[in-house]
Amino acid sequence: MPRPITRAEAEVLELFHDSVFVRDMGGTIHFWNSASESLYGWPSQQAVGNDAVTMLKCEPAQNDEDPYTRLLADGQWQGELYRTTGSGNRCLVNARWSLRRDAAGNPIGILETAHDISSTKETEQRLKESEYRYRNLFQAMAASFWELDFTGVGVRLKALLESGVTDLESYFLEHPEVIREYLRNTRIVDLNDHSVRLFGRGDREEMLGSVDRYWPDASLQTYARCVVKSLAKQPNNIEVTRLKTIDGRELECLFTACFSKENIAKGIILIGIIDLSEQVAARHALEVMQTELAHVARISSLGEMSASIAHEINQPLAAISTYAEAGLRWLLRPEPDLKEVEIALRRIVDDAQRTDDVIKRIRSMALRRPAEEVEVALNDVIRESLQFTRHELTRNAVEPVLNLAPTLPMVRADRVLLQQVIVNLLMNAAQAMASANSPTRELTLQSRQLRNGTIEVHVIDSGPGIAPEHLEKLFESFFTTKPTGMGMGLPICRSIIEGIGGTICLANREDGRTGARITLTFPGLPASTQAV
Ligand code: ADP
Repeated sequence: MPRPITRAEAEVLELFHDSVFVRDMGGTIHFWNSASESLYGWPSQQAVGNDAVTMLKCEPAQNDEDPYTRLLADGQWQGELYRTTGSGNRCLVNARWSLRRDAAGNPIGILETAHDISSTKETEQRLKESEYRYRNLFQAMAASFWELDFTGVGVRLKALLESGVTDLESYFLEHPEVIREYLRNTRIVDLNDHSVRLFGRGDREEMLGSVDRYWPDASLQTYARCVVKSLAKQPNNIEVTRLKTIDGRELECLFTACFSKENIAKGIILIGIIDLSEQVAARHALEVMQTELAHVARISSLGEMSASIAHEINQPLAAISTYAEAGLRWLLRPEPDLKEVEIALRRIVDDAQRTDDVIKRIRSMALRRPAEEVEVALNDVIRESLQFTRHELTRNAVEPVLNLAPTLPMVRADRVLLQQVIVNLLMNAAQAMASANSPTRELTLQSRQLRNGTIEVHVIDSGPGIAPEHLEKLFESFFTTKPTGMGMGLPICRSIIEGIGGTICLANREDGRTGARITLTFPGLPASTQAV
């Protein structure tokens, strides 16, 4: 039985913010201050006389040796304990025990002071978890992360601003050597494993240090923009740029620099880099494939038009032979009529020129070559495409109607590909009208410029139009309603038109007549106009 707490002692212990209670060696509580009441939720009347271990469901938080053994050996113990409060909540306390002894030195009781550390522990735990998460992200992501120390640049930048430079952007454009110097003084202090794989040779240590060696000249302004944006208190700078690996290979990458206030204050910038080289290679392969496909489609449409082509060439050839015979006859007369010979020869030259034009057109369509974007006059392309398909249209009794804008800005496109689009649309329209046996076969070609500068081209036919259930599928590869169709014409048209920033849309006419209406839009070049 511990010596009872004196009144004076009790008054002092009441002043404590920590819980203080005294129990005997059997566990029975003899003193319980009001801080214990607030911490554990048991009022003093209930606590005193009760068994502390049962009431508080005491459990050590750490797995070290039994607190009682240590207490008996040393006379005191300190550690963390889980307790359960009167309302059933578990709390974690940091407790100090001191052993009270009688005059003969026998242990008679324990005085405990304790305070609640549940919330501190929880915060600590959360911090640990979030640190773990970020470390995990930093290490495990398939992106490269660098932590850069730019304190070496801070001093130089301060001096630069103090020297009166205000327009940093222009200054950096004029002084790339200053950016180089800044790069030399920006250091990688940490990076993740992916960075070592992407930029290094497997040795992390080798990669630390100046970032200078990772920066090709072409990307100097990326660094300059980071400086400008961080000074303007912008949160980040994101752009596609090029960086170099440690052994000099250049990578195209998505580069993100983050300027959080806390990091900037510490002289630190975080950088994330995603390698785009594979995507760039894949995009290139796709472009090559699209060019191939467009070429195959052109050849196939030339095949469809072979009768027309033969006709276009045969006609001037026949004329040439007729004029040559006539010329000969005029020449072989007893009195040669040189005037008539001249007329015949000139006609021969004209027709030879016509044949040559047709062959050139076919050659340009048939040739396999990479796309080449130049300034193109759309009205000219429309007229050329009509010439190309003229015989095909006549054969199918289709009447072309031209309604072209008197002036149009030029567009940037590959001439042959654009011709391919229009030819394809004209052939589709002619085939639709012919196969539906449309009584009137009108094919209108319109061009105009909208107020916002966009150029619109319409191809309108008087065929059967498109069945509603097909509207959604027209641009799907291999969708066709023709017995010998390939179903690649429209998807190729779309990829060509979208490739130059335009759009293509196929719908039914809305002017009360049946037929299809194709709308192409093109962004016009601002300062270039083509007169009709
Ligand atoms: P294909 O000509 O080989 O069928 P396309 O991709 O050029 O391939 O056309 C796909 C389908 O779109 C055609 O089979 C046809 O059903 C429809 N289509 C295209 N143009 C027209 C049109 N002017 N009128 C009606 N249907 C059309």
